[in-house]
Amino acid sequence: RPVRLPVALDHAAYDVVIGTNLISRAGALLAPVLPQKKVIIITDETVAALYLPALEDSLRETGIAFRALTVPPGEQSKSLKTYEHLVDAILEEGVERRTTIIALGGGVVGDLAGFVAASTLRGLPFVQIPTTLLSQVDSSVGGKTGINTRWGKNLLGAFHQPLCVLADVSALSTLPQRELIAGYAEIVKSGLIGDPELFAWCEKNGDSVLAADPDTLTEAVRQACAFKARVVAADEREAQASGGRALLNLGHTFGHALEAELGYDGRLLHGEGVSIGLKLAFALSVKLGVCAPEDLARVEAHLRALKMPASIGDLPYCFRVADLMAHMQRDKKMQDGRLSFVLAHGIGKAFTSRDVPAEMVRDVLIE
Ligand code: NAD
Ligand code: ZN
Repeated sequence: RPVRLPVALDHAAYDVVIGTNLISRAGALLAPVLPQKKVIIITDETVAALYLPALEDSLRETGIAFRALTVPPGEQSKSLKTYEHLVDAILEEGVERRTTIIALGGGVVGDLAGFVAASTLRGLPFVQIPTTLLSQVDSSVGGKTGINTRWGKNLLGAFHQPLCVLADVSALSTLPQRELIAGYAEIVKSGLIGDPELFAWCEKNGDSVLAADPDTLTEAVRQACAFKARVVAADEREAQASGGRALLNLGHTFGHALEAELGYDGRLLHGEGVSIGLKLAFALSVKLGVCAPEDLARVEAHLRALKMPASIGDLPYCFRVADLMAHMQRDKKMQDGRLSFVLAHGIGKAFTSRDVPAEMVRDVLIE
């Protein structure tokens, strides 16, 4: 039996359904929430080869009409070009306002299909079927959708909440280990931000998560989604100047700088950058005297125990500190020329700070 996690927001309420073999039961699970028995599936080539037939079979069995549109895998598909191609194909199909867009894939497909759904005819109903651990624990909850432009990542987008999320942990059995680790970093992040029990649970169960044990994965996804749903419910549109959704960026200022420096070419996965960023955020907090060194030691020990990247030196690439600093200063989260960071008073006690001295950041990068 799948676990149902209700997400209650000001303008939307939906369930995140978590469990095994959900894709092959998607028709029956979705029928009660679809406004019309017609859907358009957006997926990528890799996921299509693995899971599209099972999804199509289950829709057919439930009498739901569908059409599938497939894009190449990878971040490059979060582009205006792919967006235009999809919108053209959907309008050509003759959609109505009640036709539902289903995103079947990782965060790339979720963000892209979500933005297509948010903008086509000023908003089509939307369902997420996330197939990476990262998308199950992070991107499919919260309603952020979007694509990249030549000016940067996620600069064109909208908030668009789904009707339902089906997180099928069975799909994670085919996910490469590196992708699993990258998604797991976001679970660790949730614990470090505001759920110390979740972090303690990770210390005990992290190895089973990374061994893709279905029951442990279900529990991990449930806890991480519950945490994210709580944060999003309190700050649906990232309107709070401090705290709120901004806390979800713990480790991300460092992570984004590393990703950007490597040109988002796949050499460093987002979650790998986050893993290093988590350790650096705690190191910065210790350096600023707001966090006990024991907490930093616990974070680093956990990452290392699971062979996750925990420092820049763990990567087989050279970075220049000045370049990383420049990326952080350009980060769209910077306000009034001061460096904004999510820091922590300890495990599960993250907070936002707007005036972190650049020298301290530099020191942490060098160490
Ligand atoms: P992804 O969607 O590119 O998936 C990673 C790779 O795994 C792809 O090659 C994909 O084809 C493949 N794949 C997917 N499912 C698979 C499966 N079950 N088995 C085998 N292979 C599979 O990457 P991602 O890490 O899922 O998502 C990253 C994206 O998510 C980024 O664009 C990021 O900006 C976005 N994101 C969005 C939010 C949000 O709130 N909207 C939050 C975090 C990240
Ligand atoms: Zn992230």
